Amino acid sequence: MKIIGVHAYTVRSKTKVPFVWRKGLIGSDPVTEQTWLRLVTDSGIEGWGRAPRGAIALDLVARRLKPWLLGKDPLMKETLWHELWEIDRIEEIPMYLMGFVDSALWDITAKAAGLPLYQLLGGYRHEIEAYASTVTYRTTKEFLDVADQCLARGFKAIKLHAWGDARKDAALCQALRKHVGPDIALMYDGSAGFDPYESLYLGRALEEAGYLWYEEPMREFSLNAYRRLCEQLDIPVLAAETSDGCHYNVADFIAQGAADMVRTSYHYKGGITGGLRVAHLADSFQLSAEVHGMGVENIHLCLAIRNNHYYETLVMGNPVVFESCIDRHGRVHAPAGPGLGFDVNLPALEKSAVARL
Ligand SMILES: [Mg+2]
Repeated sequence: MKIIGVHAYTVRSKTKVPFVWRKGLIGSDPVTEQTWLRLVTDSGIEGWGRAPRGAIALDLVARRLKPWLLGKDPLMKETLWHELWEIDRIEEIPMYLMGFVDSALWDITAKAAGLPLYQLLGGYRHEIEAYASTVTYRTTKEFLDVADQCLARGFKAIKLHAWGDARKDAALCQALRKHVGPDIALMYDGSAGFDPYESLYLGRALEEAGYLWYEEPMREFSLNAYRRLCEQLDIPVLAAETSDGCHYNVADFIAQGAADMVRTSYHYKGGITGGLRVAHLADSFQLSAEVHGMGVENIHLCLAIRNNHYYETLVMGNPVVFESCIDRHGRVHAPAGPGLGFDVNLPALEKSAVARL
């Protein structure tokens, strides 16, 4: 099989429900941009990948990816994945742009096999529990109200993204535990908002409140800082979400004792190939590799990886807007049909694209 066409389309839409993060972090832009990558093969099978952002994606496709991919065999994903790392050495490309190339190649492979992607990747389960991953709300009262809406919607697990103030966040976490009782799984995500002292303070509060994991309290630059935190706390520290370098880097987090659980995903770990590698690496140490983020690509990873326990779905706005793929028991199911399961209307996409190649 050969790639005979490489196309990209950037679309823009008005952000319907803006998301809000902790102090210091930019939330959603008023306009959301996304770029679709379409690989056309001589067999008639087409593969799709997608990435956030417009200009940066189109620039990379035009200068590097298109000339490189044309004529290549899309089934030789391992070769192409390593060639992408060579391109990364020159370009320092955002990981999500590795992700959309690799996803499109897997889409082609799974369509050629006539299988939904997760079954091609191994196939561990057909559905999985989701956790409600909150944006940052204004008050404790509002967070508790949002938690009630999530529980009423069938969720049995909630993760907080709070204000980025160690004391206030600790009090919120404890108030939420009191509010929902002992049987709901609770997690906390610091989105790298803290220094080591604040991280320790907050981690102790989470331990007391029986949280399931403590995610990314600090930027993931210092393995030493993470190793110290893991030693000081009993609660599992979940790290290596945004660290570059895929399994080459996650391996050091594990070897140094700088994470008790690790993050994986298609968009921050170099696609499906990288996401799986991290999961299998962690599995060999009997550690969890929890899948970060939403989207059908991550659903396939969640269904294929044994040592992942949830699908992460963002809950935004109040009244809360829930992702449509979540059933009334708070679970997400396997996409039907071969490939990744994107349902792209090409003529409509061509018409609506604000920029294309
Ligand atoms: Mg996170």
